[in-house]
Amino acid sequence: MKALKLFSDKTISLVEIDEPNIQDKEILINLGSCGICGSDIRNVFADSCKPTSKLGHEVTGTIVKVGKSYDGKHYEGKRIFVNHHAPCNSCYYCIRGNETMCDKFTDNIFPCGISEKIILSEWIVNNQSIFELPDSMSFEEGSMIEPLACCIRGWNKISFVKGDSVLIFGIGPIGILHAMLAKIYGASAIYCIDINQNKVDFCKKINLGICINGLTSEIDNLVNLNDKLRPDLIIIATSDMSVLCKSLDIIRKGGTILLFGEPQKEIDVNLDIGKLYSKEVKIITTYAATNKEINEALQLITKMEIDVNKLITHRYSIADSKDAFEKVHGKNDVIKAVIINN
Ligand SMILES: [Zn+2]
Ligand SMILES: [Zn+2]
Repeated sequence: MKALKLFSDKTISLVEIDEPNIQDKEILINLGSCGICGSDIRNVFADSCKPTSKLGHEVTGTIVKVGKSYDGKHYEGKRIFVNHHAPCNSCYYCIRGNETMCDKFTDNIFPCGISEKIILSEWIVNNQSIFELPDSMSFEEGSMIEPLACCIRGWNKISFVKGDSVLIFGIGPIGILHAMLAKIYGASAIYCIDINQNKVDFCKKINLGICINGLTSEIDNLVNLNDKLRPDLIIIATSDMSVLCKSLDIIRKGGTILLFGEPQKEIDVNLDIGKLYSKEVKIITTYAATNKEINEALQLITKMEIDVNKLITHRYSIADSKDAFEKVHGKNDVIKAVIINN
């Protein structure tokens, strides 16, 4: 079978490997689709600070084989989404609500998400990290459950009040999902900022809010607004951490900055801490998602309250997955790309 492998010299290659044998408590799936995440791109073309360097984690598929322990449990043939990591729910971090900081919260699918067949470990199966997809949901829609769930975890960490205004830096797929959430959570205004005009135009087209190119003077107008007209919440959905300083200038007094985008490894930012202090700004970080947020995301997509089809712009086969990475990295007209297994 074919799988996309990342080598230590940062090259990627489609490799032919033996079809995996599963243990008694494991499950084997046939890949349906796997989204390409920004962290996958950074793993290949930059320095990601995520703990795993395996490619692909937004996985859906069909169960094709179950370990002996599950005989008679009617798993086979089920269309599913997999949350690729699971916390223990009992350690120091887990019981304090920091499940994604759990030592056990590591990638648990093999060989990786961009592979014709994938083993789901005993840990994943035991921790109920397998979710059956409703018939109405396509595999590619299912691949958007994980990124949406990560966004929801961020929103669950902040104290957003209906009527608050939101500004989003970086309107790739994650920024768009945040804007869609802002809409259903009742934001009074949604500013979508990007320095890529293609993305600004795309967001205008799908009517996401006030779309601004961050390289124009329009962004400075926000800094000059009366404090009460400034955003209550700023979401950083880019890895360009220079916007953190800009965010501190733009945010209203007492506002919240949600640091969502994964920064490059060991990046330093020259932040005016005096300003942070005197404006009483909160900076909240968030990482990944647990099954609680996965369930919320699954519901929102099932009910079409979040229409993820709007942002899936490109589809590639596993055979073309290497090209897909180049294309997504090239930043042209790609919003969200998914690998489809035909
Ligand atoms: Zn992801
Ligand atoms: Zn734990």
